[in-house]
Amino acid sequence: GHSFGPNPSPRIVMMGLRRGGKSSICQVMFHNMQPLDTLYIESTTAPTTSVFSSFIDFAVMELPGQINFTEAMIDAERIFSSCGALIYVIDSQDEYINSLANLHSIILHAVNANPNINIEVFIHKVDGLSEDFRLDAQRDITQRVTDELLDDGLVNVSISFHLTSIFDHSIYEAFSRVVQKLIPQLATLENLLNVLCQHSGIEKAFLFDIGSKIFVATDSSPMDIPTYEICTDFIDITVDMNNIYAVDRRPKPVTRNDANTNNGTVNIANQLESIPQGRPIGSTSRLSNGVILYLQQMVKGLALVCLMRKESMPKIALVEYNIEFFRDALEQLWLIG
Ligand code: GDP
Repeated sequence: GHSFGPNPSPRIVMMGLRRGGKSSICQVMFHNMQPLDTLYIESTTAPTTSVFSSFIDFAVMELPGQINFTEAMIDAERIFSSCGALIYVIDSQDEYINSLANLHSIILHAVNANPNINIEVFIHKVDGLSEDFRLDAQRDITQRVTDELLDDGLVNVSISFHLTSIFDHSIYEAFSRVVQKLIPQLATLENLLNVLCQHSGIEKAFLFDIGSKIFVATDSSPMDIPTYEICTDFIDITVDMNNIYAVDRRPKPVTRNDANTNNGTVNIANQLESIPQGRPIGSTSRLSNGVILYLQQMVKGLALVCLMRKESMPKIALVEYNIEFFRDALEQLWLIG
């Protein structure tokens, strides 16, 4: 997948009991694995750290799920002190009482090491629960966790709960929310997007991290999930098309050896690696309902994805002119930030 950042200091740590879904989440989010293929992932047995060099460098550290932890926690405390968020994954399809006990002690360690850390609880695998059960589980877990923290007199812990599944876009949305809280320039980014939309006839604009499809910011108009899904699909299509026609990414002729190791298929793995370095990607598409999708790569592996009405199409030159200003503003933001 992604290259290792120069600074391996983790920004996000992910923990949870074994079989909760941590490896699956990382594989789906950062290595483009198909959700069903996670059935064959080997469970985490030793602490592993993977660093994803995304637009904000962050690392996901997986600790094997265990209820008693001592040595691992000493390590973890050091990491908590330098990271922004702790994601704790709870398997909602399983008895979660053990998870809650584990989570509670982890929160105590985390807050002790870093009082400003954001605790982000992923109530995971909710694809297996009915709508009612999801909300019940969320209510029950929220209640239990916050009650315990109150009992400890911990009233200032920043803690949020998210319903997630790797089988839909909820995992991307939850991750986006987690990452957005760690971006100091978020308010500025949102303002820039608002201004861009107002002056260009854009209905909705997102700034996406291309590699992970986490959205880093969006304008303040209401957001719905189908819109978000269309945008992420559009990123996939654009990246795929870009790889097909990129001169230096043409699949090499399959030799006999390759054919043996790859079961005869041409392996175009790690396609995302070259994106931020290569020529910026971009594309425009018109949907059957008249909506125009527009994608332009900006700085740092980020892409601007916009939805416009077909009435904006004649003004596309103006839109692109405004987008250039937006790009300049982004560059300056990261020069000073
Ligand atoms: P880890 O030990 O926490 O890393 O857990 P794994 O990633 O190995 O996942 C354990 C099992 O849960 C695997 O069989 C996954 O296919 C499954 N799993 C992970 N995420 C989901 C999800 O969102 N929904 C469902 N139904 N199963 C999931």
